[in-house]
Amino acid sequence: MAPAAGSCSCGAVKITFDTTPEVTVICHCTQCQKMTSGPFTTSVIIELDKLKVDGETKTYTSMKTGSGLPSYSHFCPVCGTMLYGTGDWSPGKAAVRTGVLDGDGLSRYVPSVEINAESKAKWLASQEGTMVFQKKPPAALTPRDI
Ligand SMILES: [Zn+2]
Ligand SMILES: [Zn+2]
Repeated sequence: MAPAAGSCSCGAVKITFDTTPEVTVICHCTQCQKMTSGPFTTSVIIELDKLKVDGETKTYTSMKTGSGLPSYSHFCPVCGTMLYGTGDWSPGKAAVRTGVLDGDGLSRYVPSVEINAESKAKWLASQEGTMVFQKKPPAALTPRDI
């Protein structure tokens, strides 16, 4: 598969990765809703060291997580686009927002799991074929199981 490439809205930050994601996740949490000003985020989970970032990013640290562990949102300081998230929820991993990917990137990675469905927009149906969790998946369930 060709490497995935994307950028923020203004183009100051570009990202690429050349790896198969562990899983593609829709998150309906209220933090994702606020940070994207949309109903949910869709992210691929990859190894952080597989993500190449070209350009300066700023980091917002949020403690408003279900786990109580901090999460970090990495965004473009010029246009504010959120490019990827990291967190103590999964050290060494990055959750890359597929909405920033170019070409077929947004379509290529089909979500298999939806999390934090307890705050999902009421008018929004779950996607066909996804496993839906009201909060997070059980800790025993690794991305490989999903
Ligand atoms: Zn930008
Ligand atoms: Zn979220």
